[in-house]
Amino acid sequence: MASEKLVICGHGMVAQRLLECLGKYGHGFNRIVVISAEPTIAYNRILLSAVLAGDADADSLALQADDWYRQQGIELHQGDPVVRIDRNRREVRTEGGQVESYDRLVLATGSRSARLGLAGESLDGVVGFRDLQDTHTLIRLSGRHRRAVVVGGGFLGLEAAEGLRQRGMDVTVLHRGSHLLNRQLDATGGELLRAALTERGLTIRTGTAPIALLGKSRVRAVQLDDDTLISTDLVVIAAGIIPNSELARAAGLACDRAVRVDSQLRTSDDAIFALGECAQVGEATSGLVEPGYQQADVLAQVLAQPCCDRHYTPSVVPTRLKISGIPIFSCGQTEADHGTESLVWQDYETNHYCRLLIRNQRLTGAVLFGITDDGPWYTRRIQQADDISADRANLAFGQAYCDALA
Ligand SMILES: Cc1cc2nc3c(=O)[nH]c(=O)nc-3n(C[C@H](O)[C@H](O)[C@H](O)COP(=O)(O)OP(=O)(O)OC[C@H]3O[C@@H](n4cnc5c(N)ncnc54)[C@H](O)[C@@H]3O)c2cc1C
Repeated sequence: MASEKLVICGHGMVAQRLLECLGKYGHGFNRIVVISAEPTIAYNRILLSAVLAGDADADSLALQADDWYRQQGIELHQGDPVVRIDRNRREVRTEGGQVESYDRLVLATGSRSARLGLAGESLDGVVGFRDLQDTHTLIRLSGRHRRAVVVGGGFLGLEAAEGLRQRGMDVTVLHRGSHLLNRQLDATGGELLRAALTERGLTIRTGTAPIALLGKSRVRAVQLDDDTLISTDLVVIAAGIIPNSELARAAGLACDRAVRVDSQLRTSDDAIFALGECAQVGEATSGLVEPGYQQADVLAQVLAQPCCDRHYTPSVVPTRLKISGIPIFSCGQTEADHGTESLVWQDYETNHYCRLLIRNQRLTGAVLFGITDDGPWYTRRIQQADDISADRANLAFGQAYCDALA
């Protein structure tokens, strides 16, 4: 190990966590080289929503100072993506022609915004929402134009829509599902959210999807599947993500929806590992940072200690919407199915809502709207899968209430 060289392809949030964990576990690599497509050091991608809304400064997003990399002896190569992996020679080549040999290679290439495959998608004014460059583009366009359409009523789409609204745009959100955040909220939660966002001035259209983006060089309108036309100056595509796995696929590594890895994050080539949003463990891929952080901790130990027997197991991860004044929390199952019971508590005056899903006296899901303080407690109980019979009558009122009555 002392003479080995580690190359990391991609420098996003998870690669950065891996570097920090490698320091913690005392790795023995003699060189660590990080090759990044973006021209910056790793930054907090999650806060791009706050930057778009004007609540955070893009300059404050860096996850470490430049000095940190120098102190750790980590070499950074930025703004030049890896375009080829040569597994026989154990080398990667970048678009700019740099060749780096490796003993161990880690792929941490994340995801990109999914495209819709529509006519007009390459027009000016059609933008994804994934990185700093997209965010700067959106801020610039919001200063010049008045109307925006956001395609996608998931977390990303709603945070983009609210950010653009806060920058003074008239924003319409198009969502194919029957209610907003349909992967995280049940129908009632989705309707409460629609009401709150509509009150702020967003136009929400659910159960509809665009079939074409119209314009000559710039986008001018969106055509919907019922042939309605919505005039616009800007279209944000926030309709899902695609793992960046092409590099691995082209190198002959086993891939499915993303790069296939085992529970130690090893690909089908023993010298190559993958983690974060570009990796698939069993059937699980992720669009959240926490699973990537857990993987980074495991992989750092696997790389630092050859006989390490730590393994990563996918677990239930909670999600929160980052729109100030609209607290939403969701974890695990969101809609009841056969064999699941629902416990619902709703205050119609204050619009506070809590739905708990229970199977065999075990908590399997929680949807909270309005008051979300007990989210972490519900998450723990979902993860522990302990018997809730003793608390059942009070469970929807939260931890403090249950503890007081215990
Ligand atoms: C606006 C926004 C808000 C979000 N909010 C949340 C949230 O609230 N909670 C949450 O859990 N998650 C959130 N996410 C998702 C979260 O940011 C991701 O889960 C996390 O960044 C994944 O980390 P990663 O390192 O796997 O990928 P990324 O952070 O995407 O990093 C991958 C890096 O690899 C680079 N790369 C790609 N291909 C190559 C190549 N060939 N060569 C070199 N470099 C390459 C990419 O350019 C990128 O810099 C949000 C995402 C966005 C965009």
